[in-house]
Amino acid sequence: MQEFKESMKALQAAALHPGKTVRLSMRETGREAIGCFPIYTPDEIVYAAGYLPVGMWGGKTQIRLADKYLQGFCCSIMRANMEFGLQGTYDFLKAVIIPAFCDTLKCICENWKVAVPQIPAIPMVYPQNRKLETGFRYLIAELKRVKKEIEGIKGAEISEAELEKAFRIYEEYRAVMRDFVKASAVHPLTVSPVARHLIIKAGFFMDKAKYTALVRGIVEGLQALPEEKCRGVKAVATGLIGEPAELPEIFGENGICIAADDFAQESRQFRVKGREEGSVWEKMAYRTVDQEGCTFLFDEEKPKGRMLIRMTEETGAKAVIVCMMKFCDPEEFDFPVIKEELEAARIPILCLEIDQQMDSFEQIRTRVQSFVEMLNEDVI
Ligand code: SF4
Repeated sequence: MQEFKESMKALQAAALHPGKTVRLSMRETGREAIGCFPIYTPDEIVYAAGYLPVGMWGGKTQIRLADKYLQGFCCSIMRANMEFGLQGTYDFLKAVIIPAFCDTLKCICENWKVAVPQIPAIPMVYPQNRKLETGFRYLIAELKRVKKEIEGIKGAEISEAELEKAFRIYEEYRAVMRDFVKASAVHPLTVSPVARHLIIKAGFFMDKAKYTALVRGIVEGLQALPEEKCRGVKAVATGLIGEPAELPEIFGENGICIAADDFAQESRQFRVKGREEGSVWEKMAYRTVDQEGCTFLFDEEKPKGRMLIRMTEETGAKAVIVCMMKFCDPEEFDFPVIKEELEAARIPILCLEIDQQMDSFEQIRTRVQSFVEMLNEDVI
């Protein structure tokens, strides 16, 4: 088998066993780990300090202890994170960074301090008006405060040179990931929806330099293959996350090819290229300023719907699939706006409510199957 296919298999396995992958990465690099809550965290600072940034995007578990701190109507990602914290699963972490993007994250930040005191919490607040000069300067001040807190944990300063080096490594990772999603879109038979999702997800648990090298190999392997034709329906997928893994598996079973995605856990992490100009702090802050169409970053113009329409046009996709995280207010508030715009553009939409703890996927399977059948028969 071609070497890149081995890498694809290895990364999928890595994503399915995050605990094992993180422990291996820590052993291989000699780095201790810092947890990074969704949606955006300045991982470059963590990396520059010599720690392994670990993505904390929840997971499957029995919620028993977290109910004491988070209401049942909080999203399943945060309930899982709190549960893992209380169970001691995260005790190997030196700290966690919690950005306050929504009410649940604000809540968890305060609760974490009392419920999981053994793991220090570093809160981070992103400015509402990130495009104003004041918002931009505030964001830089926040990034510098996070750096100070990490230095406190490390007991040593992080130099500007270390930060610049880490930023370069992350920019390289982001560039390779942009190539990966493009290459996957034209090789939908080799890269199934579930393979695409797991390969991207593995990056949250591995050293970025090693991970980037593996994904680069996959991209080169894909680019050497002739382009493949989607045998079913090409779709753009959006939402916070496109998991549990059963979800993209169902997409694949029904012939859906992911032409592009707007998942917070996937392309939103790397679609913005850093600017060339400015100090490393400004470059880091500009990446947030330049992020468009993200539910979690305020934008009066609400460009997300138009962005999704553009993505479908550019990729030749036939539909948009919205993976709606249950109880995620920011995503839910955006939905009526994007729905109206997509309908006006005559783009079929499938909205699936998802929860990380769901056990049965039959309802989703039926809805996906019916949607594909209707698209194939031009009923919608
Ligand atoms: S409510 Fe949404 S934005 Fe907030 S933590 Fe949950 S998934 Fe993230």
